[in-house]
Amino acid sequence: MAKLWALALHGGAGPIFGRDYAPEEAHLRALLKDGAARLAAGEAALDVVEAMVTALEASGLYVAGKGASPNTAGQWELDAAIMDGRTRRAGAVGALQGFESPVQAARAVMERTPNVLLVAGGAATLAASANLARVTDPKTYYGAVDEDTVQEGTPNMGTVGAVALDQYGDLAAATSTGGVLSKTPGRIGDTPIIGAGTWADERCAVSCTGLGEYFIRANAAADVSARIRYGNQPFEKAVHGALDDVKRLGGNGGMIAVSASGELAWGFNSSGLKRALADSRGRFEVGTFL
Ligand code: ASP
Repeated sequence: MAKLWALALHGGAGPIFGRDYAPEEAHLRALLKDGAARLAAGEAALDVVEAMVTALEASGLYVAGKGASPNTAGQWELDAAIMDGRTRRAGAVGALQGFESPVQAARAVMERTPNVLLVAGGAATLAASANLARVTDPKTYYGAVDEDTVQEGTPNMGTVGAVALDQYGDLAAATSTGGVLSKTPGRIGDTPIIGAGTWADERCAVSCTGLGEYFIRANAAADVSARIRYGNQPFEKAVHGALDDVKRLGGNGGMIAVSASGELAWGFNSSGLKRALADSRGRFEVGTFL
């Protein structure tokens, strides 16, 4: 019998009704296939979530990595995090400029330093010392501002993320973002705040997208685990409970999550959630709206 594994990806919680997301869905489907094959072949969850988020960043299809949009000063400041559930080691970068893959910089923080979060110049120095690929000409590297980023009154919510359970029972999560539309220089959202936008422990792995300030105030990603741990809530109920708390504060967005027993869950209280889910039991699905 195949060993248990499960994988979920997301491409943000702010799709626009009526817009065709076929390119994003085709990309998510291909990536899901690749990630599923890696987990089926025995790759570690931590490596798979990093690889998935690196590919999502590089695609330019989402508001993360190559697809990120600039802040009000015309700079591209990017945030990312990665977390290993078994050890609870974590790494994150905030307001990183000049590197193609913020999630790889986050992994470098985790592997190469005693710290969890490095920001701005300190994060860039670390990324340089890890020889990560640079963005030398931001204006040409980053794509044109995506339609998702200019919809009246709606922040972009095109963050990307991945959560996985591997065959060894280990969980991992990774998230990467260009942040919200027209953000203030120096603004850091929930994505690199461990517990808020990204979390993995021995119970679950969670990656969020949405209005980051609310996810920080709700400590949304870690709240899923807390609801299971202290409230004995079933996994799916815990996911929706955490999202309801974000909504109660006035925020919106979505999340993907995987449990230690390989259950997959997702939810949103925004317009939709670009997502892809697969597991060793044969589940394989991609969607954007309901
Ligand atoms: N959560 C991200 C942030 O606030 C934005 C998003 O999900 O698109 O930076």
